[in-house]
Amino acid sequence: MTLKDLEVGQSAVVVSVGGEGSLRQHFLDMGIIAGTVISLTKLAPMGDPMELRVRQYELTLRLADAEKIEVLPWKQEEKTAEELPIPPAANHPGLGEGGRFHKKTDGEPLPKGTKLTFALAGNQNSGKTTLFNQLTGSNQHVGNFPGVTVDRKTGTIREHPNTEVTDLPGIYSLSPYSAEEVVSREFILEEHPTGIINIVDATNIERNLYLTLQLMELNIPIVLALNMMDEMRGNGGFIRVNEMEEKLGIPVVPISAAKNEGVNELIDHALHIAQYQEGPGRMDFCDESDHNGAVHRCLHGIMHLIDDHARKAGIPTRFAATKLVEGDQLVLEALELTQNEKEMLEHIILQMEEERGLDRVAAIADMRFAFIEKLCRETVVHPHESKEHHRSKVIDSVLTGKYTAIPSFIVIMGIIFYLTFSLIGPWLQELLDSGIGWLTEVVDAAMNSAGVNSVLHSLIIDGIFEGVGSVLSFIPIIIILFFFLSLLEDSGYMARIAFVTDKLLRKIGLSGRSIVPMLIGFGCTVPGVMASRTLPSERDRKMTILLTPFMSCTAKLPIYGFFAMAFFPKAAGLVTVLLYVFGILMGIIVALCAKSTAFKGEAVPFVMELPNYRLPGAKNVLRLLWDKAKDFLQRAFTVIFVACLVIWFLSTFDLHLAVAADSSTSILSVLAGSFAPIFRLHGFGDWRIVTALIAGFMAKESVVSTLNVLFAGTAALTALLTPAAAAGLLVFCLLYTPCVAAISSVRRELGGKWAAGMVLLQCAIAWVVSLAVSLVGGLM
Ligand code: GDP
Ligand code: MG
Repeated sequence: MTLKDLEVGQSAVVVSVGGEGSLRQHFLDMGIIAGTVISLTKLAPMGDPMELRVRQYELTLRLADAEKIEVLPWKQEEKTAEELPIPPAANHPGLGEGGRFHKKTDGEPLPKGTKLTFALAGNQNSGKTTLFNQLTGSNQHVGNFPGVTVDRKTGTIREHPNTEVTDLPGIYSLSPYSAEEVVSREFILEEHPTGIINIVDATNIERNLYLTLQLMELNIPIVLALNMMDEMRGNGGFIRVNEMEEKLGIPVVPISAAKNEGVNELIDHALHIAQYQEGPGRMDFCDESDHNGAVHRCLHGIMHLIDDHARKAGIPTRFAATKLVEGDQLVLEALELTQNEKEMLEHIILQMEEERGLDRVAAIADMRFAFIEKLCRETVVHPHESKEHHRSKVIDSVLTGKYTAIPSFIVIMGIIFYLTFSLIGPWLQELLDSGIGWLTEVVDAAMNSAGVNSVLHSLIIDGIFEGVGSVLSFIPIIIILFFFLSLLEDSGYMARIAFVTDKLLRKIGLSGRSIVPMLIGFGCTVPGVMASRTLPSERDRKMTILLTPFMSCTAKLPIYGFFAMAFFPKAAGLVTVLLYVFGILMGIIVALCAKSTAFKGEAVPFVMELPNYRLPGAKNVLRLLWDKAKDFLQRAFTVIFVACLVIWFLSTFDLHLAVAADSSTSILSVLAGSFAPIFRLHGFGDWRIVTALIAGFMAKESVVSTLNVLFAGTAALTALLTPAAAAGLLVFCLLYTPCVAAISSVRRELGGKWAAGMVLLQCAIAWVVSLAVSLVGGLM
């Protein structure tokens, strides 16, 4: 039978793993190998995908993929194996052993004063961000890895100025599956960090250690941070840290990143191994006695065969050997083996497959997990069912329950949007607005009494205060929306949304994972586009990026708010909601069209971890909000500020650079006026509106600030436009090209051609649809 035939609640043991290529590699990397026990927890509300429990964690899989895994029914036996006696609870097992396990002498210390660089690597949801914030305090820089738009966060370890930690994307293995795994691997291989800090979720230790073993093969000094020890301890689990250190040959430090326990000790160890260049005590995880040493002999044979090439290419030999067996093309190319050597390599591997009775990829995964299982049997007392897991199960019985999942999703999103847009947000916004209004008056009065030149006066009041101020007041709403989105993501609910909606998204040719970038797109298109890098297929990424701008970003809110208040004051909230919904509908229509034309084919497999629900750390959330606020303020005072100045200038002076008698003779009216006919049919072919739309290309908030500068109050605007034209204009703003920042992030992800194509497509869609809205609206 296959995994697909399993009943809910039943367990089975894996016989063999089918499938091919990177999907199969991913199955194995996630710990599904022959002999693993898997149980089926539940099916998603729409019957697909399934939620499985394997190696103490939850995994999702589609039925079609589950069909590729052969299993046999399995019954839980009474535990007869004698468990390790639980040692008395110590707050910090192994804490303060004073570097007893730094006994390697083969390293060559770096000269004093060398900058120590660390890669922070670990699985997703292992607490990397939390630890990174603890390690670096406030000395952080966010950028991108060269060439790709994958977040690159670096920072200095607090109190150690000559250090640098780089937070790598969360990965499960060093096999290239998604863009993030490639980036992490290249960073470690090419930038040669002086040390690796590997963070491991102790409550999910088997799967986490899988990455550790691969990192150790790289022969770079490494220290293991066992995170979530508070949870482990709280549930009666225990890890014999000193024994684990001895068996792995690397320092192991139990920590709790969330509670800031053990972090100082971790820093000490990390600095030590990097300074003295203490490589891992072992890189070899093959067992001479396992199946007559088939894998062991194979790997060592290959290591001898390729040693010279690996040295020349600067790739650690042991790592190269295992990757060759796994069929890694990138490593194979880098090594430049001769034809003879390639054939020899193939023969060695074939021989191993025959002796071991497993294919090459499975044999390597099996070797690693065999080592890990042995290690864990000897050093880990697993907690009984943890409180956190139990709590997650209870929460999930509602949030991913058959009949409750989708209603819950709608209610949760509804609450978030309600709180953001009609309860907390507007209240804070008004507060800020009146503050800005007060400041404007004060400055205005001061300038009047000082007799400031009227052009300068107009620049400051009409240009800067009106323009930047109108945008600035939206900062509370933006921050609140990001606050909720980050709660969704950090708490683990975002993964459930993907699980629940997978089948729906598959109907429009995507997978549940695509919901994450799109939901983030409601905050801002830029991080939404960036979040698409977690999608493991090009096709899905492109399609998700194409659709993300249809989710109204927060910068469009000022536009909606401004027009809704001016034209539909009684139904302002409803108009805003309708626009959001309309954007989503347009996205679905575009997706359906794309699916049957440019994006034929199947969405990628959906293999994803469902982490336990956790309360996000206040520090993490605050830091994120601060980053967003900073980012927004920077934009307000750079892009938007400049846009306001330019527009003020162009609208104040005429073609002879004299102050224009009235704005209809200004440079701007001449320039924008030539574009205005494009929108004559829509009913908003006015040069001032065209100007605002052009300004919106720089930053969406500028639409409103520009209108404020040009119209000086909404009365002139309401006189100019009919409600139907205003509705058309709103729809145009909803659909037309995203701002420069979003376009440039698309360009970085997919290239210039794609970005240009997207801009054209979206402008065309916006033009057509808004025309339809204006015309239909005019009839009503
Ligand atoms: P990342 O995905 O690896 O960056 O993980 P995060 O740093 O975002 O952490 C994932 C979740 O685990 C968050 O909700 C954290 O608050 C939580 N977390 C992180 N470290 C610890 C810890 O030591 N103990 C507990 N109980 N929770 C933690
Ligand atoms: Mg993180």
